[in-house]
Amino acid sequence: MQLLKLMEGYPDIPKEVIVKEDVLLKGLSFSDSALSQSYQEKAYYLFTFDPDNPEKVKSRGRVIPQEIMIYGGPLNLRNTVIQSRHSLSSPYRVDLVEGELYLLLNDEPLARVKLAPKPSYYGRTLSNGMRVEEVAPAIYWGETADVTAFRICEYWNVNQQCKFCDINENFKSWGYLRDKLGAVVPPDLVAEAVELSSSSVKRYLITGGAIRDYKKEVEFYLNYVRRTEESLSRDIPLRLNVQALRREDLEKFYELGVDYYHPNLEVWDERLFSLLSPGKERNVGREEWLRRTVEAVKIFGVGNVSPNFVAGVEMAYSDAFPYGFRRVEDAVKSTSQGIEYLMSKDVTPKFDTWGLEPRSWLGMSGAKAPPVEYYLELYRSYLELKKKYGMPWPGGLGEAGPGVSKVPASGFMDVSN
Ligand code: SF4
Repeated sequence: MQLLKLMEGYPDIPKEVIVKEDVLLKGLSFSDSALSQSYQEKAYYLFTFDPDNPEKVKSRGRVIPQEIMIYGGPLNLRNTVIQSRHSLSSPYRVDLVEGELYLLLNDEPLARVKLAPKPSYYGRTLSNGMRVEEVAPAIYWGETADVTAFRICEYWNVNQQCKFCDINENFKSWGYLRDKLGAVVPPDLVAEAVELSSSSVKRYLITGGAIRDYKKEVEFYLNYVRRTEESLSRDIPLRLNVQALRREDLEKFYELGVDYYHPNLEVWDERLFSLLSPGKERNVGREEWLRRTVEAVKIFGVGNVSPNFVAGVEMAYSDAFPYGFRRVEDAVKSTSQGIEYLMSKDVTPKFDTWGLEPRSWLGMSGAKAPPVEYYLELYRSYLELKKKYGMPWPGGLGEAGPGVSKVPASGFMDVSN
């Protein structure tokens, strides 16, 4: 089996990470009996992350679980949380075997499975009659309340959207899950929902699409932070996921209560950044993005500025996009240069494993996902650089380590503690 060969070839990488990355890349399906269990349904709050198109996923009749946890089984795996990405053509399936849930690989049991349990705050009602989870669903196995304040992105209006992103398509396909909400979620409702969730989660996240007018974007997201922080009765940390902003504006966010800042760079290579994130390139520019990211450490502190990379997208390649790296070693070398640059400046980058969504530009262009080896090489390199620069794990993502991390969309924090 290919997985076992990888486990032999990468003895320093936990086997859980190898399984996790393969499942994230290939997606997984659920049998009808698995979907008849009790679980937390996937929120479809920002992107679909599914390799299948939304019609196929919706035809399942019930929304799939937000996350699964694999454990035990023939490989005796430690608890490992994995974001659910639906694919009917994946070799992975969650099914009941003699009454117990298993992750099957090509119909053979590989690990036991728990489906993400419904958080205790789910089902509570907001003042407008909506359920709290429609505004602040949980991710990270219930540890993080996730607010998508702006459910679309303005770069799509001018054909400058990131080529790996399906935010507007997600809104079109899954927006009905919150049919009382438009593209902009009212800030008072967010404040109310986060307050209700705060008894159960360890932190919350405010995220959403980009607004092209710089001042408007700053004011838009500041308003959410202000209203929510003012009305929170408990002090829970706040992660903010917006574009790279100027120092004077980041100071306002910090003063209002933002603890962790994610100015997502997406990809390191200069040419690929301009091709894959044309809106960010034209509105801010890569050099300025980096300058603002590095400067943000002076405000938020070491470990609290963590731009995300869409790991693997630097290998995006198709007839319509013949620019990505063809060899794993070149892709890892490029991204490692980025990690090294950032860590040398006290920035702690993080990753999401690229989910090749069919309605993203790259999905429509016929691009293929990278091999699992890419991720194993990348995490090796990340650990080496983390050690070399004495960097902590990115703040706001919870604890790190095999059997411990709850980061759902990447195995990079399951690698080591
Ligand atoms: S900035 Fe890029 S990744 Fe973010 S929502 Fe807009 S298009 Fe998507």
